[in-house]
Amino acid sequence: MKKYIGFLVALFLFTGCAVSKAPVTNRTQLILIPTEKELALGEESFKQTLKDMKVSSDMVQTKRVMNIGARLANVAKRDDFNWEFALVESDEVNAFCLPGGKIVVYTGIFKVAKTDDALATVIAHEIGHAIARHGAERMSMGLVTGLVGVVANVALSRNHSEHLQTFNIAYGLGATYGVILPYSRMQEFEADEIGIDLMHKAGFDINKALSFWIDMKNQSKGKSVPEFASTHPSDEARIESLKTVISRYNKR
Ligand SMILES: [Zn+2]
Repeated sequence: MKKYIGFLVALFLFTGCAVSKAPVTNRTQLILIPTEKELALGEESFKQTLKDMKVSSDMVQTKRVMNIGARLANVAKRDDFNWEFALVESDEVNAFCLPGGKIVVYTGIFKVAKTDDALATVIAHEIGHAIARHGAERMSMGLVTGLVGVVANVALSRNHSEHLQTFNIAYGLGATYGVILPYSRMQEFEADEIGIDLMHKAGFDINKALSFWIDMKNQSKGKSVPEFASTHPSDEARIESLKTVISRYNKR
């Protein structure tokens, strides 16, 4: 444990920015992974994902994902992120994000996300995870508890690809790599809340986010849960929390 504390102190001295604030919610976060490392890992992981998965040849739907993504990224205000959106062939009703603004949407999502507002709900949620740096935060929690000290080496290593799999596990890319470590319940609520804020700023109908999650709840009954509809929080808790957030915006 001693060496972890030493490591944390050293890292804090080097980066000087271990404590940061999440966008929109203003929650204090402990993030020990430097942004540059996170972005580099995101680039590498995105390239690998596009190699491993089948990129959709449906140009109409791909354009739709990219246009909606661009509208939301535009209001996410992270100029240091190199935003990229990909549509991949898969029946799974799913999507995920990589750090630094890489969003991957599965074609299976169209079974539930039939309108642009519904698709924006999914993408905005994933952008929420990305700009709140939830993956880096999770890795940092691992460092603090000393349970996944290996992640420190992963995040700080110069040889990115060698450690990609561990990184992907830390980012919850279970659907691709066979291991599921979902985001925390608190991070899911936060991604929802940031997502609503982005939709609002980009001119989407935030009330449609609620109907989207209700549709998700109905269709995912008894089936395995994708990243963005993970068991934390439960469907009911998520919908209640969204109602509260949306009503705040509707009152403005
Ligand atoms: Zn999520």
